[in-house]
Amino acid sequence: MTKEKFDAIVVGAGMSGNAATYTMASRGLKVLQLERGEYPGSKNVQGAIMYASMLEEIIPDFRNDAPLERHLVEQRFWIMDDTSHTGMHYRSDDFNEVMPNRYTIIRAQFDKWLSGKVREAGGTVLCETTATELAWDGSGKAIGVRTDRSGDAVLADVVVLAEGVNGLLGTRAGLREMPKPQNVALAVKELHFLPEEVIAQRFGLTGDEGCVIEAGGTISRGMAGLGFVYTNKESISLGIGCLISNFAETMERPYALLDAFKRHPSIQPLIAGSEVKEYAAHLIPEGGFNAIPRLCGNGWVVVGDAAQLNNAVHREGSNLAMASGRMAGEAISIIKSRGGLMDKASLSLYKTMLDKSFVVEDLSKHKDMPSLLHTNSPNFFTTYPQLISHAAQNFVRVDGTPKIEREIAATAAFIKARSRWGLVSDAVRLATAWR
Ligand SMILES: Cc1cc2nc3c(=O)[nH]c(=O)nc-3n(C[C@H](O)[C@H](O)[C@H](O)COP(=O)(O)OP(=O)(O)OC[C@H]3O[C@@H](n4cnc5c(N)ncnc54)[C@H](O)[C@@H]3O)c2cc1C
Repeated sequence: MTKEKFDAIVVGAGMSGNAATYTMASRGLKVLQLERGEYPGSKNVQGAIMYASMLEEIIPDFRNDAPLERHLVEQRFWIMDDTSHTGMHYRSDDFNEVMPNRYTIIRAQFDKWLSGKVREAGGTVLCETTATELAWDGSGKAIGVRTDRSGDAVLADVVVLAEGVNGLLGTRAGLREMPKPQNVALAVKELHFLPEEVIAQRFGLTGDEGCVIEAGGTISRGMAGLGFVYTNKESISLGIGCLISNFAETMERPYALLDAFKRHPSIQPLIAGSEVKEYAAHLIPEGGFNAIPRLCGNGWVVVGDAAQLNNAVHREGSNLAMASGRMAGEAISIIKSRGGLMDKASLSLYKTMLDKSFVVEDLSKHKDMPSLLHTNSPNFFTTYPQLISHAAQNFVRVDGTPKIEREIAATAAFIKARSRWGLVSDAVRLATAWR
C-alpha cells in the first residue's frame, strides 16, 4: 500500500463513490478510491433505472459510450391481488427524445464503465481492497483509512464514505448507527434472458424503447414492499423487496415471495421461456428523511446509500447517490481551492448544498410515508389491493346484474373492510404524508 498522502480517499466504487471521485479527480485533486469488489460493480445490485440528468451533471456526453440498455417510454403501476392487476400506465412518444430522461442499465457493466471515466479523469482506483477502519489524529479528525492490505493507515485530508447501505466503516467509527430493520428493505432480484424481439413484442416496444412495471399488493403478503419488472435489451430484471422488520415479523422468505411473483398470472407470460442467468439480494435504505445520519464531521463526509439517501416512495436511489457524491466532491474541491481545512465547519458546505437540492427536498416531502406504510402495511398492501381489484372486476364484468347493484356492492365491501371512519382516516393520512 502506498505511503503517499491523498487529497481525498473515497471508500466504495458504486454510484456515489464514482460520482465523488470523478468530480474531485477531474478538478485536479489527488484521489484514491478503494473498492472491496473484484471490479467496480461486482458487488452492486440495482433494478435498474438510471436517471440521466444526474449523470449529465457529471459526464454530459455519457450517451456516447455508456452501456445503456433501453430508454424508458412507458411506466406501468400495478395494484395486484392474487389473480389480477389493476393498472395505471403512462406511455409517451415524448420520451423518444434526442437525450432520453431514464434508461435501464446493468450495474456490473455500468459501474465498470463509470470507473473507467474515473481513471481517465485521474483517480486512482484500487479494487479488492476493503477499508477496515478510519484512522484518526489526536484531535478527533479522520486522517485516512486502514485496509485489509496492510496495517498502516493510508492518509488523506478527507475521507468520503460511499460504502453503501450497510457500510461498516462509518458504523464502527460511531459516525452513525446500523440502519434499523424498519428502515431497510431486503430486495431479491433475477435477470431473465430472452431474445430482444421477444421482449419488444411482449411489451410493445420498438428499437431501444423500454418499459418498466412497479407493482404492489398481495404479492408482498401484507408486508410493506414492492415488486418490479424492468426491460433491458436482451433480459428482464425482475425482483421484489420488503422491509426487514416485516420479514422478521412474518418469517416470510424473500425467495418464496419472488417465486410467487414470477408465477403470478400477470407476470408469468412476460418471462415465459426465459433463461435465468443471475440472481442477487441486496438491502435498500427506506427510512427516508428521518433516517438520515450526520452527513459530515472532522475529516469525513458520507454520501449515497451510506447516508440513507434513498427515495423509496419514487423508487429512486442511484440518482440521489450520484447527486450527493457529486456535491461532496464539489464541496471538497471548493474547500481545497480556498486552502481551507477539511474540518466539520468547512465540510458543512456539502450539507448546505444537499439541503438546497432535490435530494433533501424530496426526502423531506415524504418524511412521514415510511412509518405510515410500515405501521399500516396489511391495509395498504393487502386489503386495499383486494378491494380495488374486486371493484375493477365488478365494473367490467357483464352478466345482467344491474350496474347500481354492482356499485352498491363495491362500496359496501370497502365500508365492511375498513369502516367509513377508517376509509376517511386512511385517505387523510395518506394525503398528509404524501404532501
Ligand atoms: C434490488 C434493487 C433495485 C434497485 N433499483 C433501483 C432503480 O431502479 N433505480 C435507482 O435509482 N436505484 C435503485 N436501487 C437503489 C440503488 O441501487 C442505490 O441507491 C445505489 O446503488 C446507491 O449507490 P451507492 O454508491 O451509495 O452504494 P452502492 O452502489 O451499494 O456502492 C457501495 C460500494 O462500496 C463498496 N464497499 C462497501 N464497503 C466497503 C469497504 N469497507 N471498503 C471498500 N469498498 C466497500 C461496495 O462493494 C460497493 O461497490 C435499487 C436497489 C436494489 C437493491
